[in-house]
Amino acid sequence: MSEPALKTNKGPKWKHVVIVEQPVNVRGKNEGDPHVRCVYCDLAFRGGATRICNHLLGGIGISLCPAIPADAKAALAEQHKIQELEGTKKRRLIQIDQELQRSNSDPSSFPLTASSSQPRQSSLQASFAKFCQVVSVMMV
Ligand SMILES: [Zn+2]
Repeated sequence: MSEPALKTNKGPKWKHVVIVEQPVNVRGKNEGDPHVRCVYCDLAFRGGATRICNHLLGGIGISLCPAIPADAKAALAEQHKIQELEGTKKRRLIQIDQELQRSNSDPSSFPLTASSSQPRQSSLQASFAKFCQVVSVMMV
């Protein structure tokens, strides 16, 4: 074991961890989440970018990093925000926005499934429900 760390071309979140082991399939391609170790607190865990973020910035399923420097955390949070907006979350937000516009222009149609079991709401309440949906998407 002479190599200090596996090389990775993954995103900036991966600067905050050392990849201890990356499972590969028979073709030598990466398979599943790698085993990583936090460079700040030495916590070893298995997970992808989301889990790393959950550890460094706080999130479900893993303890919050007690040792990450404030500036690194701020930089990561900023990067995280940008990536969220550039990636699938942006598409999801656009989708929610479109649904919102549709439900505003046509109050009789409610694409929001979460409200299907509830009595019909005012469009203001529907907007708020959409807002909550947006927030929950952003929190993931
Ligand atoms: Zn840590």
